[in-house]
Amino acid sequence: MCGIIGYIGKNNTIDVLLNGLYALEYRGYDSSGIAINVDNKISLIRSVGRVSKLEEKIKSLNIKDGVYGIAHTRWATNGETNINNAHPHKVGRVTIVHNGIIENANILKEKLVKEGYHFNSDTDSEVVAALLDYKLRDDNILDSIELLKKELVGSYALGIIIDESDELYALRKDSPLLIGIGDSGNFIASDITAIIKYTSDYILLDSGDIAVLKANSYEIYNGNKKINKEVLKSTSSNIDNDKNGYNHHMLKEIMDEPQVISNLLDRYNNSRNWEEVDLSKYKSIDIVACGSAMYAGLVGQVLLEEYANIKTSVYAASEYRYKKKIYNDKTLVILISQSGETADTIAAMREVKKLGIDTLAIVNNSNSTIAREVDRKILTEAGVEVAVATTKAYILQVCVLSLISYVTSYKKGLLKDGVSYSDFYKLPSLIDLVIKNTDKYREVVSMLSKSESCFFIGRGIDYAICMEGSLKLKEISYIHSEAYQAGELKHGTISLIEKGIPVIAIITDKTLKEKTLSNLREVEARGAESIVITTEELEDNDKHLKIVIKSANRFLDSMLAVCVLQLLAYYVALDRGCDIDKPRNLAKSVTVE
Ligand code: GLU
Repeated sequence: MCGIIGYIGKNNTIDVLLNGLYALEYRGYDSSGIAINVDNKISLIRSVGRVSKLEEKIKSLNIKDGVYGIAHTRWATNGETNINNAHPHKVGRVTIVHNGIIENANILKEKLVKEGYHFNSDTDSEVVAALLDYKLRDDNILDSIELLKKELVGSYALGIIIDESDELYALRKDSPLLIGIGDSGNFIASDITAIIKYTSDYILLDSGDIAVLKANSYEIYNGNKKINKEVLKSTSSNIDNDKNGYNHHMLKEIMDEPQVISNLLDRYNNSRNWEEVDLSKYKSIDIVACGSAMYAGLVGQVLLEEYANIKTSVYAASEYRYKKKIYNDKTLVILISQSGETADTIAAMREVKKLGIDTLAIVNNSNSTIAREVDRKILTEAGVEVAVATTKAYILQVCVLSLISYVTSYKKGLLKDGVSYSDFYKLPSLIDLVIKNTDKYREVVSMLSKSESCFFIGRGIDYAICMEGSLKLKEISYIHSEAYQAGELKHGTISLIEKGIPVIAIITDKTLKEKTLSNLREVEARGAESIVITTEELEDNDKHLKIVIKSANRFLDSMLAVCVLQLLAYYVALDRGCDIDKPRNLAKSVTVE
């Protein structure tokens, strides 16, 4: 979530910090700030809203450049969004930026108040600054940071400046943080994208590591011992700020879908690579993820059960991590995360690994915590996704799950319906067709964008798609939307159906078509405005708005329908004038519990 950048070196510090903050903007944030050391005094500049506002403020204050500094984009967890709560926080000699949540902040704060500390913010982060300042009364810097580690409970990535020191410090536990090693200085960053403009050499800090940076050197300690760590080379390129002529990253990323799907299919077109995606030795699978990744899991559940005959359950990682696990040596846990840094999914993975259950991750970021710690992984390789609302990364997760189901079913000799791997190759061009035929959306878009509430209904795999379509719409257009199993609506929620409310039915499963249609008629009878998204062969003759797509087969049609839903959400949000790439309150990767 949010982000950290720190820099010490020969370049203009303010420029490096601002460029870093701009590169981190895509992760979602509500305020930002920088602290720089100018002539041995720390200047703090903070601002609510966009980084561009912070930049204007820095320019208007005519701040002299400093020899080093730290900067932050905040996604508030403790204390509302306002200037006092924005980071950096300075207490006594200590200035910090923090990502994460300090769970024992209130207890620590009470103790520090008794020691004479005053607090200017409602954040947990300011408590960290005060506690470190307190430790520094009796100890040197490194020992104080070691002591700090012992008292903090929760998750943290910290960039730290200490008055009168000519070094930058970094420390992490559970929230991501790395250091960058450059020719013209060294960096701290929560995400390589923040510094890739300056260097591709970096070191991933592990929980408990303390990094000490000077302009020309760095050292890493853990438990008072100096340690050596491998310098890695990032292959990521500068964050792709080029929207390729589109108005929004989200639209560009939907347009990328045919290509990234083709790339994925090419990787598995040789059946020797099928080992990686063959799950035939497992008897039960738990899919564990959050948000859209969990909804990708719901599609996977239907396919794995139906085609690979493996009992599959899907759980929100925030629940799974605390629930009793029922498993045996034929159980697999699949973790799905775009960023690979989703805090709940990481915690669930660690719980599962402690129990000795096999783990497989479907993940986009190959350097992430999940990619590094999981037993085996399948990379989606969607490239960097800049829009907060996921599109291409989600569709690749579904595509991987379809591939797994197909290959496992093939290996078990269960494949039916005459589906072959070459069918998968129809997908990119069919998605392209969906993308190019959006003129029929106009009426649906204008109906939805005038509504404050709507419903998505479907059965089986179509219900799984409804969950994602509904989430996409609410994420970026702020329309209240619910997804329901079509047969379930009448067991209570139908009381909310009144004249004019849009109900969107997804029908790609032939066996369930008539059932869903009759559920749709039930809401039409109560005044709902109905919309059907279906395939050419399943098109019905009822009079409702329709979006009809060309079908491929049951492994693939869900992805075509989802692409329609992504585009609908996009055009509705556009119609309502929403900030599509940076929707309110949302962060790209959720690194707190
Ligand atoms: N918990 C801190 C706060 O609310 C840090 C949040 C963040 O990670 O940005 O200020």
